[in-house]
Amino acid sequence: MTRPEVRIYEVGPRDGLQSEATLVSTDDKVRFITLLANAGLQEIEATSFVRADAIPQLADADQLLPRLERRPRVRYSVLVPNARGMERAVAAGADAICLFTAASEAYARANMNMSIDESLAAFEPVVAAARSSGMWIRAYVSTAFGCPYSGEVDEHAVVTLSERLLRLGADELSISDTVGVAAPVDVRRVVGALLAAGIDPQTLALHLHDTRGTALANVMAGMEVGVRCFDAAASGIGGSPYAPGAAGNLATEDLIYLLDREGVRTGVNLDGVLDAARFISEALGRPISSRVGRAGPWPA
Ligand code: MG
Repeated sequence: MTRPEVRIYEVGPRDGLQSEATLVSTDDKVRFITLLANAGLQEIEATSFVRADAIPQLADADQLLPRLERRPRVRYSVLVPNARGMERAVAAGADAICLFTAASEAYARANMNMSIDESLAAFEPVVAAARSSGMWIRAYVSTAFGCPYSGEVDEHAVVTLSERLLRLGADELSISDTVGVAAPVDVRRVVGALLAAGIDPQTLALHLHDTRGTALANVMAGMEVGVRCFDAAASGIGGSPYAPGAAGNLATEDLIYLLDREGVRTGVNLDGVLDAARFISEALGRPISSRVGRAGPWPA
């Protein structure tokens, strides 16, 4: 198989489901993740080891992860918020972890009840444990393009935090448009600042939300400046269409359609993603919400 030119990092089972109110059974999550892997997705963020009462949707993390079929080229990563979460993740057989912090102090306080500094201090024992067992480590730089509480975010705050996370031991940074406000000019500005600081574009991913309809334009801008990994969620789950202001993740099938038409190899099969997207939409009891999900692929 030819090597993909762009990596697609599927966040539906974790980032997508965690903000969906309808509870999905563990069986259905296993089926969803199996369909995603069948579609050729090689990186799937499967769940989160947060406290069960914090996110009831992901309270089955300890049971879910061991049930996933291990495949040679598929990596299931899990979000780990602290040392306790790390113990659970290790016990469940995790081999790749994700950390979550923010470029905006106000968002860090509101979302994690910690300052940015405190979040990095909390990561230290987690990273040490991950390193000693050879785990791959990804870190989310949320609110990199804007904060719902403090507004515009300076790109130098993104650069400083990114440098600290890389020094700490992160293998990849997911530069996240948490509130879906970025336009291509912002992608060029923020990624440009990261590259100017000497950060290797191979360590960067973009996590885009289509809240204001700019996600695919931002993907194209990201590709132009050398980003080769994009996050997406099948069916765009992660923001219920019935919740006002909810921010939907970029839909994996919309991203794959664009990249297929552009002739960019991803190794991901559009029909397979649509199967997964239809399945999870049904499990959530609502119609598929992506553009390509509604209109269908073309040529049919
Ligand atoms: Mg998201």
